[in-house]
Amino acid sequence: MSVKSDTALEQELAPRSSFPILSRSVYGRPLVYLDNGATTQKPQCVIDAITDEYLNVNANVHRGVHYLSQEATRLYEEARATVQAFIHARSTAEIVFTRGTTESINLVAASFGEAFMREGDEVIVTEMEHHSNIVPWQLLQARKGIVIRVCPITDEGRLNLEALSQLFTPKTRLLACTHVSNVLGTVNPVQDIIRMAHAHDVPVLIDAAQSVPHMAADVQALDCDFLAFSGHKVYGPTGIGVLYGKEQWLEKMPPYMGGGEMIGKVSFEHTTFNVLPYKFEAGTPDYVAATALARALDFVSGIGFEAIEAHEHALTVYAREQLSQIPGMRFFGPSDDAVISFLVGNIHHLDLGTLLDRLGIAVRTGHHCAEPLMHRLGIEGTVRASFALYNTKEEVDALVQGIDRVRKMF
Ligand code: PMP
Repeated sequence: MSVKSDTALEQELAPRSSFPILSRSVYGRPLVYLDNGATTQKPQCVIDAITDEYLNVNANVHRGVHYLSQEATRLYEEARATVQAFIHARSTAEIVFTRGTTESINLVAASFGEAFMREGDEVIVTEMEHHSNIVPWQLLQARKGIVIRVCPITDEGRLNLEALSQLFTPKTRLLACTHVSNVLGTVNPVQDIIRMAHAHDVPVLIDAAQSVPHMAADVQALDCDFLAFSGHKVYGPTGIGVLYGKEQWLEKMPPYMGGGEMIGKVSFEHTTFNVLPYKFEAGTPDYVAATALARALDFVSGIGFEAIEAHEHALTVYAREQLSQIPGMRFFGPSDDAVISFLVGNIHHLDLGTLLDRLGIAVRTGHHCAEPLMHRLGIEGTVRASFALYNTKEEVDALVQGIDRVRKMF
């Protein structure tokens, strides 16, 4: 698989010009944006969708009899159907719009936790989780006295599946696990993990924040019980995300927040709740962001994951090869996916990131919201380069040259 140059990318994948911000410069240098794990840049069609809805449609959804409200509602519900098709859910009732992965996981921890977990019950997470799949369970632990069990990782940065199989007990109520590590780039064998958990009658929540942008998601084929992702990491706007949940679970779970739209009838004596998915969507949702997210998913589908995966994989392999030539280079994790974490010699990750920034190269530095993983690795942080469909071989070369330049300064 060859890595696409700028020109080939232009012709075969998506025009970089679809992403206006990529043509800007920083410090007088062309922007090299390699912080896509944190958030992706937006194509013009997503920016247009936001502008267009505010210019022409804006009205609150599900509330008005008037024309604009009905049109906004139609766009909002069409967006839900687009998400449903994108992740192959059975029905739109299983698609809850949230603010992002974090809110989706908090919703499950609070609501599933309320309905199905008691003191002493157990949730399994892994050593490579983002804080957003650790802290919600700790909040539940503080409220209800649940127990958090942690699946260790191997020195290569993979889940220790043998150890995982030993963690199930009659008190295990849920397994919550990331699909792709935002630090190590490990793609976890979620299908096997789900099968293992289901054999113990344990439902599974997949944190798909780092997988949905890079590979096709099929919740029915996976048979996961919950799946969470963020719009802004898949070329969509900020402030919108998705919780997929099997209807059989969502039906039995109590509302997460109370307010407008999530109710059936309200009186001071007794309130009934709306049907799915509205039971979980209290208050005015970010309907504009939902429409724009649908345009982002259309954009991704238009290119297709076959092309996206081939391009990103080739780019990641090329980057690992080139980076490995740098003296003192230390990688963390296998980088199966479009994420490469590293340290160079004794250079502090923050110094390296700051100096790369001065060369126009945006990378992420620090603990990447995964402090327990940093403890496991025995480090404080890494530099992380993470790729998207618009990145090029030339940008990888700029990164490598930039690191070499910084290294020579130390
Ligand atoms: N999980 C993983 C694996 C992530 O990488 C991130 C974002 N860095 C999150 C969850 C949280 O996503 P958000 O901040 O969009 O809610």
